Amino acid sequence: MIPLYLDHNAGAPLKAEARVAMLDALDRIGNASSVHRFGRAARRLVEDARDTVAALVAADPAGVIFTASGTEANNLALRGFPGRSVITSAIEHPSVLAATPDACRMPVDHSGVVDLAALRDALSAADRPALVSLMLANNETGVIQPVAEAATLAHSFGALIHCDAVQGPGRIALDIAALGVDLLTLSAHKLGGPQGAAALVLADDIDPAALIRGGGQERGRRAGTENVAAIAGFGAAAATSSQDLSTAARQTALRDAIAREICAAAPAARIIAEDAPRLPNTLCVVMPGVPAETQLIAFDLAGLAVSAGSACSSGKLAASHVLRAMGYDESEARSAIRISLGPQTGDDAVERVVAAWLSLWLKRAGGTDKRDAGNSAAEFSYTANQ
Ligand code: PLP
Repeated sequence: MIPLYLDHNAGAPLKAEARVAMLDALDRIGNASSVHRFGRAARRLVEDARDTVAALVAADPAGVIFTASGTEANNLALRGFPGRSVITSAIEHPSVLAATPDACRMPVDHSGVVDLAALRDALSAADRPALVSLMLANNETGVIQPVAEAATLAHSFGALIHCDAVQGPGRIALDIAALGVDLLTLSAHKLGGPQGAAALVLADDIDPAALIRGGGQERGRRAGTENVAAIAGFGAAAATSSQDLSTAARQTALRDAIAREICAAAPAARIIAEDAPRLPNTLCVVMPGVPAETQLIAFDLAGLAVSAGSACSSGKLAASHVLRAMGYDESEARSAIRISLGPQTGDDAVERVVAAWLSLWLKRAGGTDKRDAGNSAAEFSYTANQ
């Protein structure tokens, strides 16, 4: 059984171009802040990467602040304007939610799309200039948010707007000016770069207070010696990201074929946000009554790497806060898995995912899986309701 990786929203495989760039950088000596030729060569790698990361979102390279993670970039954006009141949506990534404990949370509708009327109300009610944070696309459901509309609204109230665009690159075209946002978060490992490199991209004239101080790196906005190899890998992955966009239609077709076949055989299955604009690669599906951790184990035994909607803490999966915000009940929000495809995902993913899903579902229902499950789902032995 060949393992199949269908968890690209958690982290994409490292691209060959990124690996080459990183190995080259690792073989060099020196600190990018040093004045000598070694330092200058390291600096060149960082600045080249800054150019390509900026180009990925059509931004000015001077506005790119490299960080160690998307989580850090989100924290920098949201804690960098202490005088402002913060408004976010209820479905943001935990790195946004935890950074803004006192924020006003905008609700979403049953399709997972943020309620812009609630944003208008929150902006009207704010007693200080606001900072709005709205993600580009949700990591669990893939639902794309009306960021440009939110930006227009935010600016009409004198607010700033940040967008966590971590799940966007390679899946939808990105342009910071077209989105109209003031700050935008990217993370290398979601687009085929390495873990440990990310960026907060600033529009003109935006200047968040530094979270990490003690050095002049990143124009004093993020102190600490740069991770040159990781940044070089980020730049190389960003440079090839537009190629991935050409696979979007194919990924959408695979995603929809999986959903169609599961629902045809198991009408009780629920596809989350089926009618909403979604990332081409992301499918979130509820298997009613079957906890997500049970599904993950069954999928893993079938050689398929997928994720539950929400993160695991202390070995137990919490109900997805995203699905809860969309109005799903606790049981449904505990029974969803996310299948996230990548540019290289082949047609075989459809048959294998559908076989694994139905095999578990039919066992659970006490029936026998009469389908030809191939060499995947048929191989695992699983006791339902364990
Ligand atoms: N924002 C979103 C939407 C994400 O999906 C993730 C990672 O899963 C992050 C932020 C955090 O990025 P990182 O893993 O680089 O800290």
